[in-house]
Amino acid sequence: MEIQYVPTTCPYCGCGCGFNLVNVDGKLVGVEPWKRNPVNEGKLCPKGNFSYEFVHREDRLTTPLIKKGGEFVEATWDEALDLVASKLTEMKEKNPEQLAFLSSARCTNEDNYTFQKFVRTVIGTNNVDHCARLCHGPSVAGLAQTFGSGAMTNSLESCAHSDVVFLIGTNTLEQHPLMWRRALQAKAKGAKIMVADPRFTPSAKQADLYIPFKSGTDVALLNSMMNVIIAEGLEDKEFVENRTTGYEELKEMVKKYPPEEAEKITGVPADLIREAALMYAKADNASLLFSMGITQHTVGTENVMSTSNLAMLTGNIGRPGTGVNPLRGQNNVQGACDMGALPVSFPGYQAVANEELVEKMTCSWGCSDLSCKPGLTVVEIMHAAHAGDIKGMYIMGENPMISDPDLQHVGEALNNLDFLVVQDIFLTETAELADVVLPAYSWAEKDGTFTSTERRVQYIRKAVEGPGESRDDWAITSDIATRMGSDLFKFNSAQEIFEEIRSVTPQYAGMNKERLEKPEALHWPCPDEEHPGTPILHAEKFSTPDGLGVFKAIEFKAPAENPDEEYPFILTTGRLLFHWHTGSMTRRSETLNREVSTGFVEINTEDAAKLGIKNKEMVKVKTRRGEIEVPAKVTNDIIQGTVFIPFHFAECAANMLTSGDALDPYAKMPELKVSAASIEKL
Ligand code: SF4
Repeated sequence: MEIQYVPTTCPYCGCGCGFNLVNVDGKLVGVEPWKRNPVNEGKLCPKGNFSYEFVHREDRLTTPLIKKGGEFVEATWDEALDLVASKLTEMKEKNPEQLAFLSSARCTNEDNYTFQKFVRTVIGTNNVDHCARLCHGPSVAGLAQTFGSGAMTNSLESCAHSDVVFLIGTNTLEQHPLMWRRALQAKAKGAKIMVADPRFTPSAKQADLYIPFKSGTDVALLNSMMNVIIAEGLEDKEFVENRTTGYEELKEMVKKYPPEEAEKITGVPADLIREAALMYAKADNASLLFSMGITQHTVGTENVMSTSNLAMLTGNIGRPGTGVNPLRGQNNVQGACDMGALPVSFPGYQAVANEELVEKMTCSWGCSDLSCKPGLTVVEIMHAAHAGDIKGMYIMGENPMISDPDLQHVGEALNNLDFLVVQDIFLTETAELADVVLPAYSWAEKDGTFTSTERRVQYIRKAVEGPGESRDDWAITSDIATRMGSDLFKFNSAQEIFEEIRSVTPQYAGMNKERLEKPEALHWPCPDEEHPGTPILHAEKFSTPDGLGVFKAIEFKAPAENPDEEYPFILTTGRLLFHWHTGSMTRRSETLNREVSTGFVEINTEDAAKLGIKNKEMVKVKTRRGEIEVPAKVTNDIIQGTVFIPFHFAECAANMLTSGDALDPYAKMPELKVSAASIEKL
C-alpha cells in the first residue's frame, strides 16, 4: 500500500485553510490536519474535512463533449479544440465585442491569469468577468474609494486581538468558520461580539449584542451609530485630523440620523442603536467584518463605504484587532480579481482605460492592439446575450444557471447564443446548455496558487491524477490560444505562469517559490524579494494618492424593490454551513449532502401562523420574476416580514426569484438581498 500526504489549500471559502490530502494507492481517502498551517492551526470546518469526497465521483467529466442534434457526443481533444478555436476566430473577426468570457474564483491564479490574457491578447476585448461581481465587487469599489485599496485590511489572525468584533451582514460561524474561531479567541480574552443581521443566525446566537435590522437599511444603521459616536464625543479626533479628509461633510450628514429616526427605517430600537455605537466606539481595538449582507445590494458600494466611515471615525484602522474586513466567499475570489479577471483591469488592478498601462502591458506581453475599452460585467453580459448583442461565450468553472439573478432570464440569454463553451469538472446546469463542454481538473489534481481573503498567496498541490482525459484549465485555454495563432501561451507548468504573473503584477513581485513554500506563505503587497509581505494594510498611511483616508457622506437610499400589497415580504438569500455556492461540489459530497439535502424557506412563526403555514409544509414563493415550490422552515430566527432561502439548490432555486434589473452604479451588483415576495400554502 502506498500512502502520500500532499499539503494543499481548501477549495471552499476564502479563509484558505491548509491541510494534507491523503492519497492511498492513487485514490483520495481523507484529509489530515496540517498543524503548522498558520491560518487554521490544524482545525477544519465540515466542508474542509469532506472536501475530497466529490473528486472521484463517477459523474466527473472525463472527455470533451460536442452537442450534435441536441445531444452530447464524446469527442477527441483535437475535434473539440479545433471547433472552439475556429468558432471563436470566426466570431472575433466579425466583432470581438460580441464575445464574452466568464473566469472563475474556483480556479487557480494561474488559470485566471491565462484566461484573461487569452481574452485580451487573442480575442481583443475586455469582456471578462467572474462571480466576484456577485459577491465582493462593491467591496473592491467601496474600499478603493475610501482607503485606496479594495482588499481586506487585516489578517484573519488579527481579529483574535480585538476588544470588539462587529459582524454586519455576515454569518461568519457558518460561512467562514475558521475566521469565526479567531473571533472566539478574542471573546475568550474578554472581547465582545456584536452581530447586525435580519436573521438570528448561529453567529448572532453567540453574540453579546444582537441587532436585528431590516435588510437593505445598512447605511441608516451605520449613519445612526456615527451620529451617536459624534454626539458623545467618542470620535478619534487625532486619527480624523491627521489621517483623513471629508470629515466635516460626514459630520453634517449623520446629524440627520438620530437613533429615533433610524429606528423608523431599520426597525432597530433607538436604545439598541445607542448601545451598539457605544460598544464599538469605546473599544481600544474594534474589527469590523462583513460579507454579502453588505454587498449584495444596489447600494452595496455605499454600504461598504459606510463601514469605512465608521472604522475611520473611531481610528480602527492599521493595527492588529482593527480594520474593515470583507470576508471573500469563494477560495480564490481575491486571486481571480488580482489576476485581472475583471472587465476594467489588467493583473494587479492596473486600469485598462489608462493608456500608459496599456502600453506597459503591451510591452510585457509582447502583443499588439490591447483594447482600452472597459468590458461588460457579469449581469450586463447576460443582458447583452439576451438582447442578441453578445453572440458567443466561453465559461470556465462557473455555473450562472444557479448563481446569477433571475434564472429564467439567464437561461433565455444562454440559449440565445450562437456558441457556448463551458469548461468544468461536472456537467453543471450551465454546461448542459453548452455547444462544447471541456473537462477540467479539480483543485485536488492541480498545482498552482490561491489567494485567500486575507491576501495570503498559498500553493495548492496535485494530490491525485485527474479522471479520464481531463486537463488543467490553463493548459486548455493555452491550447485554444495557440490554435488561434498566438505564440504567447507556451507554458509548461503552473510555476512558469506564476513567474510571469510576478513580472506583471506589482503586488506579487517579491513572491518567489522558496518564499511561498513556507507554511506562512506571503500576504500581498509584497513588491520585492526583501519585502516581508503585508498582513495589515494602512498602518502608516492609506493607499490613496495623498495617503489620507476619504470619508464619504452617504445618505440612506431604499432598495430597488420594496414590499407592497401583492408581494408583502422581503426575500433575502444566502448560504448554509454544509454547502457551497451552486452546490456543484458539496451536493456531490455524500457526507455534506446528507446534512442538508434540499432547500427551504425560513419564515417567522407569527407570519407563518397568519398564513396558516406549518413547519415543513410545501409553500409557493413568488416574485415578479418567477415562483418556486419549497418546504417551509417556521422559526423565530428571522424577523417578521422577511423570508430567507439558501441559493444552493437547483430544484428550488432562490435565484428564480431575484432580479438583475437594477444594479449598483459603481460595481454593477444586483439587488440579491432584497426582493419583494409573496408566500402561499400549497
Ligand atoms: Fe475550508 Fe473555509 Fe472551512 Fe477553512 S473555514 S476548512 S477554508 S471551508
